[in-house]
Amino acid sequence: MAAPARLDFKHELERSGVPTPVPDIDIDRVRDCIHCGLCLPKCPTFRILHHEGDSPRGRMWQIKEASLGLVEFDDPRFQAHIYQCFNCRACETACPSGVQFGAVMEMARARTPPQNRRDRMVRRILLNGLLPHPSRLALAGRLFRATRAIGIPALLRWTRLWKLVPLGKFAAFPPPGDRSPWRSPLPKTTPAVGELRARVGLLTGCIQDEMFHATNRRTARALAENGCEVVVPQDRVCCGALASHAGEARTAHRLAEQTLDGFARAGVDTVIVNAAGCASNMKEYGIQLRSDPQKREEGVAFSRKVRDASEFLHGLGLRPPPRSIHLKVTYQDPCHLVHGQRIHRQPRELLRAIPGIELVEMAEPDWCCGSAGIYNLTHPEIAEEALGWKVQHIVESGARVVASANPGCIVQIAMGLQRAGHQIPVVHVMDLLGWAYGDEGPAPPAIARALD
Ligand code: SF4
Ligand code: SF4
Repeated sequence: MAAPARLDFKHELERSGVPTPVPDIDIDRVRDCIHCGLCLPKCPTFRILHHEGDSPRGRMWQIKEASLGLVEFDDPRFQAHIYQCFNCRACETACPSGVQFGAVMEMARARTPPQNRRDRMVRRILLNGLLPHPSRLALAGRLFRATRAIGIPALLRWTRLWKLVPLGKFAAFPPPGDRSPWRSPLPKTTPAVGELRARVGLLTGCIQDEMFHATNRRTARALAENGCEVVVPQDRVCCGALASHAGEARTAHRLAEQTLDGFARAGVDTVIVNAAGCASNMKEYGIQLRSDPQKREEGVAFSRKVRDASEFLHGLGLRPPPRSIHLKVTYQDPCHLVHGQRIHRQPRELLRAIPGIELVEMAEPDWCCGSAGIYNLTHPEIAEEALGWKVQHIVESGARVVASANPGCIVQIAMGLQRAGHQIPVVHVMDLLGWAYGDEGPAPPAIARALD
């Protein structure tokens, strides 16, 4: 019997005399996909939308067709499938062929700016109008914290106005975080406690620093308590992660260059990042800066210095924290930590090292919560589905606190839990470590009661 016909996706399009690939998509990375479909059961948008075009395999196929000129980049159907992707990279973890899906998706998005009005508005206001401009961002952050200090979230919940106001759900159900409109930046240098083990730089970030300044302070504290001298670049640095993941390549390129310059002036050997999306982006600067060979080299060298905070502290060997936190905690894997950086074990082991913490696993801890950069703003309906599973799994775990490691996940999950009526605080792993090392900043009541 003749062997069954086998589809050779890898080269069939080229054989048919199709034009050369567009230069800004690396066709070799696209060709890595052998269309086996092993990633499909791990893809949240395939689970939600039940459409091959919204699976990793379907997206790779469409990107290949567009790269070879068989589909227009601005075809609305192509765009819909490309922008409906969470870019969570769960397909990368599942892929036996080593497809770098995140990089390919960012290249494809850069080639096809969205036509959807809501998406374009989010990009114009947030990605291009706010994040690259430190003074505007600081003003927005101050206003945001002021709304919390004067009780606007409670008012929005009580009047139910949050359902009518844009972004109302995030304003009405904020995560535990900073409230004061005024605050001082982290010191330029925090000295090591005890024997000096390392000298590190700390990325304080953009949204992270405006909404979670106290988490940055606790990260510096945890590092210092472990013998690290912590240097914070005084020029405000946004690493460009949100822009890069959304395909805003020019903005991302510019912010990556600024980040390289900022840390070059700090003169450190290791750069610590406590926001998973940012570290994942910074570890791939070589891809992001590929259009400029000199910057690309700098980007590759810089990426080698970048470490997630839990990855670094775990590798260094954690000094036992003196305080206990008697709590059942569950850990949510941020996509860009577990899939983007393959860091799964380290944050869990740090949590277990805190006396009193009982770590319980929720179901599907590594499935996207729907935050996905700006996705919960541009595609709220699909994001809500993913959030619904997450809330259910957390509640079923019986945990009293959720720990995570990315500001977007913390905002999204805190909103989902509170809105569903659950008083389960969502905090960063570095928050729990910071309190265990003696940070005296305010903790959510459930944690404050459990501190010994
Ligand atoms: S990145 Fe996530 S949502 Fe996008 S195709 Fe891969 S698994 Fe699916
Ligand atoms: S992305 Fe990987 S797992 Fe998914 S279809 Fe392609 S080769 Fe298979």
